[in-house]
Amino acid sequence: MKVYFLGTGTSQGIPVIGSNHPVCKSTDSKDKRLRVSVWISWGNYSYVIDCGPDFRQQMLSSHCQKVDGILFTHEHSDHTAGIDDIRPFNFKQGEIPIYAHQRVIDNLKRRFEYVFETVNKYPGAPSIETIEVINNKPFSIGNKTAIPVNVMHGNLQVFGYRIDDFAYLTDVKTIEESEILKLKNLKVLVINALREEPHDMHFNLKEALDFITLVQPEKAYLTHISHIMGFHEEVQKNLPKNVFLAYDNLEITL
Ligand SMILES: [Zn+2]
Repeated sequence: MKVYFLGTGTSQGIPVIGSNHPVCKSTDSKDKRLRVSVWISWGNYSYVIDCGPDFRQQMLSSHCQKVDGILFTHEHSDHTAGIDDIRPFNFKQGEIPIYAHQRVIDNLKRRFEYVFETVNKYPGAPSIETIEVINNKPFSIGNKTAIPVNVMHGNLQVFGYRIDDFAYLTDVKTIEESEILKLKNLKVLVINALREEPHDMHFNLKEALDFITLVQPEKAYLTHISHIMGFHEEVQKNLPKNVFLAYDNLEITL
């Protein structure tokens, strides 16, 4: 399985519009971060987790040729605002399944009403099939199984996903013991780490590192990173040897 980091930034992306912060002005390509998303593929199968406002640019730079489905973590715009740009895949492939909590599906129905129109729907509008994700109910994606992992983003429920030895968790602030049990024996864990300072809704760096110590994956990649975290190269130097700051367009093979 290949995992391609389409975006590794927090909700505003890096650089932040109008910012004079040194990280926003950095010329290192690893300090440029689009909104958070990954593309996972194996054999003939190709899925993305989340579809934020940078989706079009991400599909172009990754040369992704097809999307068999989109797994949503939650409804926040940095994870969903790119839905209109799935249309080129619809024109090639037809309807695309989206997997999400029922609350997220309901939210998308309000915000993207035209996508869900049943009468006089504009023929060029995105075309999706909704599939409800229920905690403790693994579901099939291609010939693999996705296991939902329930986490909390402050008061908001969010799904992470485990597929084989890979797990992708973002926007985590707290996670219950029963959910941590789903993360045993991972080769790769992707986990959010916003910055060094604490935040009410996100793991900071220390919380993410403590979580990695608890879960003990072979390797961990940090994502959903704010410019306030610092320069990629400097932050990476101080991480444990099996922990990596993810960066946009990084591709790993499991
Ligand atoms: Zn987010």
